[in-house]
Parts: sequence; structure tokens; C-alpha cells
Amino acid sequence: MPARHVTRGILTALNGTTGAGLLIALATRTRLRRGRHGVLIAEGYRLPVPPASCFTVGSVILTRRSAEWLLDDERAALFGHEHRHAEQYAVLGPLFWPAYWAACGWSYATTGSWGVRNFLEKHAGLKDGGYPADLPLRPWAVRGLSAIRSRRRPPGSPSRG
Ligand SMILES: [Zn+2]
Repeated sequence: MPARHVTRGILTALNGTTGAGLLIALATRTRLRRGRHGVLIAEGYRLPVPPASCFTVGSVILTRRSAEWLLDDERAALFGHEHRHAEQYAVLGPLFWPAYWAACGWSYATTGSWGVRNFLEKHAGLKDGGYPADLPLRPWAVRGLSAIRSRRRPPGSPSRG
């Protein structure tokens, strides 16, 4: 296994996020299976939240489907997306959660999608995670951003080039 996968596994074990993933896997009575790159797959997740086919906690990918389904070549992009979330957990540790929810809130408020303007989903790959590549900003966000831009450089002021 490449060193970065080993490092990721060690970091997510030490920062407690894989432990949290295993607790959720046990509490929701999923079956743990071996994935790729040292990631575990908890298959048969049944709770309604979150409403995704897969989500990742530390080095554990929880899925409503089976491990075979996720490890199928056709789902290589989706596995890669979830694996990048595991790498984010290695860097952020438990800070992943507040960062993720803040990013979801920002993305939802500005576009109506949890993922499109969520920097953690963008980094993991929007297309690979099944998100649209981009969405138009909601009207308030367009107004807000243009107000910020015009405050930086008042209209009519000479450019400071
Ligand atoms: Zn994602």
C-alpha cells in the first residue's frame, strides 16, 4: 500500500475520526468489510440521514449498498470521492464536522445545493460525488457579492493600477 494511504490510516486512527466511524457502523448494525487503500466499508446502512448512497467518517465509508457495489469498477470515481473525504479527515480531524456543516450551509444558502459551493465537496470532486458542476448563485448572493466588490472599488473611482 502506498505510504500516503498508510499515513492517512494512522492519522484518522489517532485523531479519533475512524473510531467515530466505527461507532456509527456498530450502532447502525452495518457489516464491516475491507475496502481499498486500507479504507473500511460499512455496508447496509439504513438510517434516513444523511440522504446519500455513501458518506465517510474517518477511514470508514458507510453505504446503503454493499461493499461489492462500491468497489465495482463502475463506482471507481465515487470510491475515489469518498476516499478523498477520508484524506480530509486525516488533515482536519474532528474539525472536519464543523467545517463540513459550515461549508454545506454556505453552499445551500448561495445555490440551493449542499455540495456545489462546499469547498470540501469541491476538493473531493463534485462530478465524482454526483453533484452538478456549478449552479447559478441565488439572487441575494449575487447582490451581496456585487456589493462587496463595489465597496472595494467605489464606482467611478480611478483604478489604482
Ligand atoms: Zn462528498
